[in-house]
Amino acid sequence: MTMTPDQALEQAALAGIHCLRIPTPFAVGRVNCYLIEDEPLTLIDTGPNSGKALDELQSQLAEHGHSIDDLERIIVTHQHIDHLGLVEIVVQRSGAEVAALGIAAERLANFDEDAEAEDRFAVELMLRNGIPEEVTAALRSVSRSFRGWGSHVTVTKPLEDGQSLPFRDRILQAIHRPGHSPSDTIFWDEGRKILVAADHLIAHISSNPLISRPLDGSDKRPQALVTYIESMRKTREMPAEIVLSGHGEPITDHVALIDDRIAKHDRRKEKIYKLIAEQPRSGYELAQAIWGNVAVTQAFLTLSEVIGHADLLVNEGRVREADDGEVIRYETTG
Ligand SMILES: [Zn+2]
Repeated sequence: MTMTPDQALEQAALAGIHCLRIPTPFAVGRVNCYLIEDEPLTLIDTGPNSGKALDELQSQLAEHGHSIDDLERIIVTHQHIDHLGLVEIVVQRSGAEVAALGIAAERLANFDEDAEAEDRFAVELMLRNGIPEEVTAALRSVSRSFRGWGSHVTVTKPLEDGQSLPFRDRILQAIHRPGHSPSDTIFWDEGRKILVAADHLIAHISSNPLISRPLDGSDKRPQALVTYIESMRKTREMPAEIVLSGHGEPITDHVALIDDRIAKHDRRKEKIYKLIAEQPRSGYELAQAIWGNVAVTQAFLTLSEVIGHADLLVNEGRVREADDGEVIRYETTG
C-alpha cells in the first residue's frame, strides 16, 4: 500500500515537517520550503529574494504559529536562487544559523562573482558546442535579469557529506547527491524514513542535470548527468517511505520513479546515438534535431541534456568528441 501525496504530507506534518509553497517568478512555479517544528526551529530553503516570496513566507509561517524572528536554523539544499534568495533577509531578522554543504560555502558567500563566473562558463560551453553567439548573448542577459532573485548566503554551520544534524526530537543526516547542481544535499531522517530531497528528485518533472562549474574550483567540465545517475542509484537504495521534493508533490515510491527516470535517460541516450551515427553533430545540432528551435531560455538546458547523454556514450566508448578547434562534434567510434 503506497500513500497518496496528501497522506504523505499529513504524515510529514505529524512528524512536525510542514510544506510551505513559496512563489517564484520562474517557469518551475512555486518552490517547496519545509518548516521543521523542533528545537532548533528550522526552515529548509527559503524561496527567492522577492517581496512576494517574503510576504508568503511570513503568512505561511504564521499559519503554524511562527514568525521569521522565531527561526533558529536555516538549511540550504543547493545553490539555485529559487531556493535560497531570501536566506540573508531571514537571517538578518532571526539570527538563525545557516547549515549547508561546507564545500559549497565559498560559492554561496560570493554570489555575485560566482554568478558572473557561472555565466562565463556557460557561454564558453555553449560556443564550444555550436550554439550561435547571439543566442549565448541573449541567454546571458536573461541570466543577469534573474540575478536579483538570488543573494549571497553566509554559511555558519558547514556540513560534511554524511554528517548528522541533531535536533531535540530527530536527527537529519546531510548527504551530498550532486547532479542537478554540484551542491545538491538531501536530508535523511532514518528513524521516520522521511527524506527531504529538494530538487534531487521531483515527481512531475525530471530534474535537469544542469552543467555547472565544479565546486573544487577546477575548470574541468563536469559530467552532470553521469553524476546525477550515480546519485539517483544511491538514493534508490535508501528505505525512504516519503520523499519531500523542492517542487510539486511528495514522492511515495522513489524506487519506481528512479527506475523510470533511468530508463528514460537510457532511451534518450540511444536516440542521440542514432543521430550521431547518421552524421557527426555538435551538441547544438543534436538539441535542434530533438527539440527543434526551442526558446532561447531553454538553450542551455537542452544543451546540458544532450551533452549529458553524449557523456554516457563517450564513457561507454561508443562515441568520441572531435574538436576542430572551434566546435566540438560527436562522432561514433565504430
Ligand atoms: Zn534547483
